[in-house]
Amino acid sequence: MFYRPKEGPRYEYQQQEIQRVNDAPRLIDKFPKVKSMVLELGHFGPEGATRNSHFKFTPNLDTAKAVFRINCPNQGCIRGDFDLTKSLAQSVAAHRTTVTDEMCCQGWMNKTTIDTVHCGNILRYTLKLTY
Ligand SMILES: [Zn+2]
Repeated sequence: MFYRPKEGPRYEYQQQEIQRVNDAPRLIDKFPKVKSMVLELGHFGPEGATRNSHFKFTPNLDTAKAVFRINCPNQGCIRGDFDLTKSLAQSVAAHRTTVTDEMCCQGWMNKTTIDTVHCGNILRYTLKLTY
């Protein structure tokens, strides 16, 4: 079974993030000019050397929320994860059709290294947009 803590800093953060997604507007309301969106994601270890996973994601613009959170693959990560919401908003504002970038997880490695060791996992992504 997948381990999901029911309390502690990781659980509290997850609950808070779920609430933030629930409260967000839909993509179609926030970015009415966007006709389609494809996101390609690759997770890499802290040095960016090893690729741990790669996947493609096509949100349904009519139902998806305008908060793009990608979970950090580190199961012990505290207050991390990747939020592409700002990057998406900037890309749409600039009317860009392809955006490639990377983000570093700002969370903590695990609950015993809070305030000392960062998680540092890297997400590389390509966002393709049509208007
Ligand atoms: Zn992380």
